[in-house]
Amino acid sequence: MSSPRLPGLGPPLPSLAGVLASDLEQLLVSWNEPGFRSQQILHWLYTKRCTEFSAMTNLSETLRDRLRESFRLRSLKTARVQGSADTTSKFLFRLDDGRFIESVLIPATEGAPGRRSPRRTLCVSSQVGCAYGCRFCASGLAGFARNLTAAEIVEQLLFAEQLASRRVDNVVFMGMGEPLANYDAVLRSIRILNAQWGPNIGARQITVSTSGLAPQIRTLAEENLQIRLAVSLHGPTDEIREQIMPVNRRYPLAELLDALDFFRSRRKQRITFEYILIEGVNDEPAHARLLAALTRRVHAKVNLIPYNTVEGLTWSRPSPARQQIFAGILREQGCLATLRLEKGHDIDAACGQLRLREEFPAGVSA
Ligand code: SAH
Ligand code: SF4
Repeated sequence: MSSPRLPGLGPPLPSLAGVLASDLEQLLVSWNEPGFRSQQILHWLYTKRCTEFSAMTNLSETLRDRLRESFRLRSLKTARVQGSADTTSKFLFRLDDGRFIESVLIPATEGAPGRRSPRRTLCVSSQVGCAYGCRFCASGLAGFARNLTAAEIVEQLLFAEQLASRRVDNVVFMGMGEPLANYDAVLRSIRILNAQWGPNIGARQITVSTSGLAPQIRTLAEENLQIRLAVSLHGPTDEIREQIMPVNRRYPLAELLDALDFFRSRRKQRITFEYILIEGVNDEPAHARLLAALTRRVHAKVNLIPYNTVEGLTWSRPSPARQQIFAGILREQGCLATLRLEKGHDIDAACGQLRLREEFPAGVSA
């Protein structure tokens, strides 16, 4: 059997990890195979975590050959694995085209009482780079290269679980890229991650984080998927948001909040506002009060994140005392607010940083 990656043989074969059960079933029927074989194949892929078609022993050799000619079982390559003292791990993967993406596996601080091991959250990338150019973010620094395929997203979970030798409980789209700008592939990957025949991650255990793409938030509201939505707010006024998030010019706060009202009208789950605390930019007590008003309007909860230093950028985080004052004002104003206890600061856990180091060892100018 010829390798899909030999030069001159055309594009690599698609990865089976991007295929929905219904599509696989249709394909099998067109091959004159019974449709139920799709369940067997997906069982090998997601339950047994099989990496070779030859191991799928309940399929005929003819079918295994045909599958091998049509698909791969993995398309990513592990380029680097880093672990940190607090057991956050970061994975760097190489894609077919030589680009790099990263995923971060984070243990939760608070395990349910009696739980033997903490819950694990996997932070996945949705694009290579990002076109939205937020001024504080490593992923935006080198610009946008391309969207990930659904398979490249699902495989981040398969590899992370394999490399960490344990299952992931939650998936958050908070790695590199703007997930709602890669809408179709992200939604497909979520349907696969959520499927009973797939990794079977509960929809409520999947969070999509967006910098505020209002039209896509409305589209997402209409999907029959109870996933969670996080919105990167980072500023309580148009003036502050514009200073650090160019996307605010396209979708100003009023438009974003309207889209969030619409999302709420379709969903029961609370929206989360993510708010990075950046010294001298958005960390005044007055900003906390404005943020509280927005939070109450859409009945959100707030996740405060002390800014994670990015090489080449001059922003910094406020002192712990100032962070606490900000959180305290939100709570006084009746908002649910958490101050994120940081994980993995020592291994560049802020999105996009490991990839920048790999692809641009000499650095990129901001
Ligand atoms: N593009 C999406 C999802 C990826 S970014 C979004 O913007 O929501 C995931 C989160 O990491 C966002 O809230 C983003 O603002 C935050 N982030 C980016 N750079 C950071 C940094 N240096 N320190 C802390 N958080 C950062
Ligand atoms: Fe893109 Fe999100 Fe980074 Fe902004 S914060 S540049 S939208 S990845």
